[in-house]
Amino acid sequence: MPQVYDVLVIGGGPGGYTAALYAARANLSVMVLEKLTPGGQMGTTDVIDNYPGFPEGVGGFELALQMQKGAQRFGAQTQLSEVISVELGGTVKQVRTQDGTYQARTVVLASGAHPRELGLSGEQELRGRGVSYCATCDGMFYRGKTVAVVGGGNTAVSDVLYLSRLCQKVYLIHRRDQLRASKVYLDPLQQAENVEFVWDSQVQELLYRDVLTGVQVRHKKTGELREIPCDGLFVAVGHVPNTELYQGQVELDQAGYVLADETTQTNLPGVFAVGDLRKKPLRQVITAASDGAVAAHFIEEYVSTTLQG
Ligand code: NAP
Repeated sequence: MPQVYDVLVIGGGPGGYTAALYAARANLSVMVLEKLTPGGQMGTTDVIDNYPGFPEGVGGFELALQMQKGAQRFGAQTQLSEVISVELGGTVKQVRTQDGTYQARTVVLASGAHPRELGLSGEQELRGRGVSYCATCDGMFYRGKTVAVVGGGNTAVSDVLYLSRLCQKVYLIHRRDQLRASKVYLDPLQQAENVEFVWDSQVQELLYRDVLTGVQVRHKKTGELREIPCDGLFVAVGHVPNTELYQGQVELDQAGYVLADETTQTNLPGVFAVGDLRKKPLRQVITAASDGAVAAHFIEEYVSTTLQG
């Protein structure tokens, strides 16, 4: 008979590993299914300054490894395997992966979100040949070169700051004339001498032969077209939740985020949602971790009630 875990966590980001830590510490059997490496989006973040306890900041991947170790210390296991399909109804949930099917009494949906694409012609083909969605992963390939970042949120500005330390020149292209990003970034951004702001502008076309050579932007107010030569384009225009696998089973909002209340419980008994895939007002490492702790609390309650029943 295959093992029926108390808790199966899909996704090893801060939400998933916090749920795993709390649940394993409460003596529940826990398996975390992870696609590649621990950390999710946090794992590809250069420095995290706003997670308490690290006065000098902490590398995202380093924090991810620490979170994984913390959960493993209490017996949580990790399997590197991509989930292919799920059956989340019933008292024993089934999660199918490339390597086999896992069974569990409860499932924590913690599969996060992925970067949104611009939807431009050539964008897919130019991935790895000038177009990137992760400055900390790919920035080093553009050392001493000229790059552009699209977007005006926290991801875009932290990418710009990171790249300004590596690259000769960084353009920040934003569709409005005001950033959405936190005020804390504004001073360092103004001080970075190699950053040029391109306001009220939308990237209209990618310019390329074999590799990206630049972008054409259109000024939204004047309609003026401008070509910006660059070796790399970092797209940071928001995220899309990784919830496709749960469609038709778990209630989602129009944008695809999982609807769960303050207990993180979804519409399905025994299925919890934590981190960036959940509809919520603030998506940060700490709010994902907080979701994980809350989920484990209610999982304990759920497991003990269903076992009694
Ligand atoms: P975000 O906050 O949703 O910002 C997306 C940005 O892209 C916005 O400026 C938006 O413009 C722009 N945009 C959206 N669609 C576009 C399009 N089709 N073309 C051009 N521009 C487009 O996303 P994010 O920056 O990825 O952040 C996601 C979440 O992670 C947020 O909650 C953020 O606070 C969090 N995060 C936090 C940190 C941190 O605290 N250090 C770091 C990274 C991310 P408008 O402004 O005009 O809407």
